[in-house]
Amino acid sequence: MELTPELEVLRRVFGYDEFRGDQAEIVAHVATGGDALVLMPTGGGKSLCYQIPSLVRPGTGVVISPLIALMQDQVDALSALGVRAGFLNSTQMPHERQQVEQALLAGELDLLYLAPERLRVPDTGRLLDQAKISLFAIDEAHCVSQWGHDFRPDYLQLSHLHERWPEVPRIALTATATAETRREIASRLDLEDARHFVASFDRPNIQYRIAPKDKPAKQLVDLIRTEHPGEAGIVYCLSRASVERTAASLVGQGIPALPYHAGLDARTRADNQSRFLREDGIVMVATIAFGMGIDKPDVRFVAHLDLPKSVEGYYQETGRAGRDGLPSTAWLAYGLADVVQQRQMIETSEGDRAHKHRLGQHLNAMLALCETVDCRRVQLLRYFGQSAERCGNCDTCLTPPESWDGTVPAQKVLSTVIRLDRERNGQRFGAGQIVDILRGKETEKVRQFRHDELSVFGIGTDLAESDWHSVIRQLLAREMLTVDTRYGVFSVAEAAGPVLRGEQQLMLRKEPPRQARRSGSGERKPKVAAADLSPEAAEVFERLRAWRGEVAKEQGVPAYVVFH
Ligand code: ADP
Ligand code: MG
Ligand code: ZN
Repeated sequence: MELTPELEVLRRVFGYDEFRGDQAEIVAHVATGGDALVLMPTGGGKSLCYQIPSLVRPGTGVVISPLIALMQDQVDALSALGVRAGFLNSTQMPHERQQVEQALLAGELDLLYLAPERLRVPDTGRLLDQAKISLFAIDEAHCVSQWGHDFRPDYLQLSHLHERWPEVPRIALTATATAETRREIASRLDLEDARHFVASFDRPNIQYRIAPKDKPAKQLVDLIRTEHPGEAGIVYCLSRASVERTAASLVGQGIPALPYHAGLDARTRADNQSRFLREDGIVMVATIAFGMGIDKPDVRFVAHLDLPKSVEGYYQETGRAGRDGLPSTAWLAYGLADVVQQRQMIETSEGDRAHKHRLGQHLNAMLALCETVDCRRVQLLRYFGQSAERCGNCDTCLTPPESWDGTVPAQKVLSTVIRLDRERNGQRFGAGQIVDILRGKETEKVRQFRHDELSVFGIGTDLAESDWHSVIRQLLAREMLTVDTRYGVFSVAEAAGPVLRGEQQLMLRKEPPRQARRSGSGERKPKVAAADLSPEAAEVFERLRAWRGEVAKEQGVPAYVVFH
């Protein structure tokens, strides 16, 4: 390789032999004054893409980053290499800020890290006007996306950089990669004409696994004990409460775990973060507030105890595992309640219909990844518009899940929901109630509302409770069932029509085998054999068909629905 000024800096300052992937091209492009939009997975080496051009070009490279908590570390690391770096953010004392400003004006800074909210302060604009700026780097550029999971309102102002300093080249960088987000970033940051560099998003050393949620706390401990004892990992939970609970339960099991969420005071958060970074084998239990920009190379596993809201979020969070390239695990436990909860959260979220629709689409893509019978990696990369071979390493490659014809069970669930919907009279019922009715379980609630008199009562003794949960989950994932926000009750959606009418076969994912099934009290003896219809079952179906006729009329569904 020809010794360019950029390569010389890479070797002399950073001590690396060669550029990786697209780095050489990106660095050369930006060093010569070109604009760039860089999409590269976490750990891909985005920092050098703006650091080296900043060193090669005259003036100071201004890096906009939302990661205020990490600025000190970043500056320290650069200073250790002899790079003249400073930062400006709200955590500083006035005199510290002044020192940095003086250094900037004196032309003594190679790199200046700037928190986005500093741009709101008019003084900052005046300061930058007086300085010689070599480039603007917009790190974590997906923060400009209002649809994303890391939206920062201050990022919207970054579109003005180009108007105010038109001659300064800009490079925006992110590890978020769908074509949709990329278009959004480009348009919001006025980078449509910039060169776009899109790296491969495959992380071959990460093993992807998505397991049905059973007893998540126990599943997590098993994962850590059997596969990652004494190793560093991140466990993501949806709520602060579950972060606290999970961290405490791990500690109780002798696993060194620390909590991290926005409800903890800044000091505790900073302490926990630095212990995670500096000590070996700490498990960080956190909300998604944790992790962006954390450069810990040896995170051996990322576990999700709750369903991420989007594939992009999932990819970002799992991407924090294995930055050192060594084998790592991305494990997610996913259950029926997750789908219900997420759908409800979308419904009750602020924003207009279009916004909710968008959130719903993101969730659907995540659910499709959970329910796929395909290679997880193939599915994940396909989402980012990239193709891949079956990886042979993810859970679905290793134990290909069978798919099974779930048409009849789906019809039974849908029919039960319709039936309950008609008789609701303001009462609430959720998945548990539906399953109890299907399985003919005489619970208090069932007796109270005389659900044992329903024609659907006990038509589902052929499947175990967990199987019914799986069926309902997959119906929710496909939006054949919807969740009413106020009551958390289910309704049958239009998309279920063809299945309900028997026009569409519904293939479902079969869960991998689990421990022996428990049979609860109060369950009736199975009335219906699995495959062959006993006379009893035939009778049940006959009844079912009769009332289906009524329901069909009301629902505008043709009455010829046949339950095989
Ligand atoms: P990103 O911002 O894309 O997540 P970083 O810029 O933090 O990634 O880089 C991740 C790690 O890779 C860092 O430890 C960095 O020093 C290292 N790295 C980056 N480029 C190279 C290279 N060309 N050769 C060796 N190591 C590199
Ligand atoms: Mg980075
Ligand atoms: Zn695979």
